Amino acid sequence: MEIRSIRGMNDILPEDAIKWKWVRDVMHEVLERYGFREILIPVLEETRLFQRGIGETTDIVEKEMYTFEDRSGQSLTLRPEATASIVRAYIQHYLFKTGKIEKYYFWGPMFRYERPQKGRYRQFYQIDVEAFGSNAPSLDADIIASLYDFLTALRVPQVTIELNSLGCPKCRPAYHKALKAYFSDKQSALCPDCKTRLVRNPLRILDCKVETCHELALNAPTIHEFLCEDCQNHFRHVRNYLEDLAIPYRLNPLMVRGLDYYVRTTFEAVSENLGAQSAVAGGGRYDGLVRQLGGPDIPGIGYAMGMERLIMILQDSLNTLSWPCDIFIATLGEKALHLGISLASKLRRMHQVCEFSYEPKSLKAQMKLANRLGARFSVIIGENEIQGKSIVIRNMETREQMFLPLDDRLSEKILALLEETP
Ligand code: AMP
Repeated sequence: MEIRSIRGMNDILPEDAIKWKWVRDVMHEVLERYGFREILIPVLEETRLFQRGIGETTDIVEKEMYTFEDRSGQSLTLRPEATASIVRAYIQHYLFKTGKIEKYYFWGPMFRYERPQKGRYRQFYQIDVEAFGSNAPSLDADIIASLYDFLTALRVPQVTIELNSLGCPKCRPAYHKALKAYFSDKQSALCPDCKTRLVRNPLRILDCKVETCHELALNAPTIHEFLCEDCQNHFRHVRNYLEDLAIPYRLNPLMVRGLDYYVRTTFEAVSENLGAQSAVAGGGRYDGLVRQLGGPDIPGIGYAMGMERLIMILQDSLNTLSWPCDIFIATLGEKALHLGISLASKLRRMHQVCEFSYEPKSLKAQMKLANRLGARFSVIIGENEIQGKSIVIRNMETREQMFLPLDDRLSEKILALLEETP
């Protein structure tokens, strides 16, 4: 029986992986400019990390985690997101003692047992950005700026930042109460999920996708009427900085994000190109999370970006990307192959992508292979070339050919030719 990949878990084949690589290259470049440093975390964690970190009433913890017992009977979970793990690492390694604001980025697969559909998978990849150690609104703005710059560097079309404040433990309870009061007499019109949310977490009704709930949410009281003075000031400063930076944002009082740990600033980056799943990234402040997971009372803020959705939006502009091949070396006969292998190895050490045919093939077949590999140049080495001490090099695009002497300086001359050809 044929063995296939698990539903919702995709292979990313090389022709697509080159696009992913490009996104990662931009990620390293842009995020490091902002002072974020790469961190790597395990795929598996203790289940209770996510239960405590993400929140028991979230969709992720309630119904989407891949949880199992290992051979020792310990309950483990494949990470559904990165923030909880990064917070754990921050606490475990005493990174709050470095005396500076810690800024990290991470890239890797996440696992959620969701219903697979276009743009929604069970193994998907996120780029994750986190900062710990300051509750200054300029950090919020800088984090959002890094997201905006990143998406702009990737040439994501029509990016807007949706912005909201969720208040803090001081002012949110009053808002919860107001929401409960507002939705209670409309209970019969709510979807079954929202009926439960009304009891456990009324905020989550606001971003329900069911039409009737959404319509009711539009007229619900907004958090902005309830923000305490500190939260109001914080939010005003964040907005002012974003205006300084000319980052286009839109206030969205219905954006509450799916995770329990957010306080104050929350944001999503949306691209008009994405339709229903328009959010390509989302994040916010989580000032209580480090303490909640057993660390000191240190604020944090971050965001996560979905790779698959990014690639989906960028699809057309990334189609021109392909794995490079600078030079293909065609050889005819064993003696030529000996020369060809050495030449390939020299050129590779000079940072050129170089291929040759491992198996004896006719010149025609080797040229076909060179074309398939997308080689810019081909070198042809045969008996005649060895005897005549010169080889042919062919520009595969223009089909121009020239001779180069077969001597110790051959690789340097090929390199010079590659460099001067656009
Ligand atoms: P979240 O961690 O739920 O805030 O999601 C952050 C980003 O990850 C979203 O904006 C999506 O781009 C992406 N994402 C979340 N869940 C999935 C999924 N099941 N499949 C693909 N991408 C996802």
